[in-house]
Amino acid sequence: MPPLPLDFVQSADDLRQLPATSAEVTVVGRSNVGKSALINALANRKQLARVSNTPGRTRLLNMFEIKDAGTFVDLPGYGFAKAPGNMRKDWQRMIEGYLLERENLAMVMVLVDGAVGPTKLDVQMLDWLRANDLPHTVIATKHDKVKSSQRNKRKKDLAEGCDLEPGDVVWVSSVKGTGIDRLRGLVLQWMS
Ligand code: GDP
Repeated sequence: MPPLPLDFVQSADDLRQLPATSAEVTVVGRSNVGKSALINALANRKQLARVSNTPGRTRLLNMFEIKDAGTFVDLPGYGFAKAPGNMRKDWQRMIEGYLLERENLAMVMVLVDGAVGPTKLDVQMLDWLRANDLPHTVIATKHDKVKSSQRNKRKKDLAEGCDLEPGDVVWVSSVKGTGIDRLRGLVLQWMS
């Protein structure tokens, strides 16, 4: 599976700035979960996510196009513990507004740190997606950080923590490339 040809389109701090699209896949996760590394791995580009995530832009929605396939939207990371409450609220409003209002949202990829397991915020996000009947898939990152002797148990525990079966979770490592090909295929499938 070749790299996904992601082209940066625009950033926005208000979802009304985003153009209508035909098929959209989006990615959310707490900061530091490995979202930038994963987007770069999917596209096989070193700086793609970082280019759009230069300081000040990390709280924006970043839109990319995959030619002839669909649109990919990188949502701001949640859970900056030190952010003041009203700033957190702004992010929450923007993320929830986006998720509820995009017409052609085909899939929400929810990144969970595979080395850490689901945090309270991850579980809240999953509960909220379920309550709103939004299509979502859990992607567990940093597969390489889990010792091979512990992988089966970790896979079982992480799925359980997300209220899923182990087979529902897509495990990836952006560092080793594990699962990246499969995820590229899934992204294109979700867009079709
Ligand atoms: P973001 O804040 O979600 O965009 O997270 P980053 O992509 O910037 O990654 C956060 C940290 O996790 C960085 O130090 C990365 O090098 C590390 N990281 C990301 N993906 C992986 C992975 O697959 N394996 C390992 N070992 N580290 C990773």
